Amino acid sequence: MVRIARERIDDLFGLAAQRADLRDLAHADRYVRLAREIGRRYNVRLLREYREFYCRGCSSYWVEGRTVRTRVRSGRRIRTCLVCGRIRRARHAAPETPGARAPLGRSEAASDRDEALSGPAAISRPTGS
Ligand SMILES: [Zn+2]
Repeated sequence: MVRIARERIDDLFGLAAQRADLRDLAHADRYVRLAREIGRRYNVRLLREYREFYCRGCSSYWVEGRTVRTRVRSGRRIRTCLVCGRIRRARHAAPETPGARAPLGRSEAASDRDEALSGPAAISRPTGS
């Protein structure tokens, strides 16, 4: 049952992505909502990668520049839902949304790279927020 639920969730996120490509965000949101419902009902956690695709506050499917704004600061990625205003912070800047980054100044870009390379040591370093 859990396996079927997972497959169904995969399907729904696939459909949501297709709909978003067609700029049909109303349906994309609905698929996200259904996927989350299935996850709740069968106690299946959505994959980490899927959790980057939608707002946990209002279940909006996130399309960069349309329903979400992503900013990178001190190696942290801050995503703001443009539908409900919920903010989601991630510790490290992930490169999976090409073009999502705001243009960085030279020094900022350099420190960003440093943090990525220095691994766990970067975590203990104060990053200021
Ligand atoms: Zn939202």
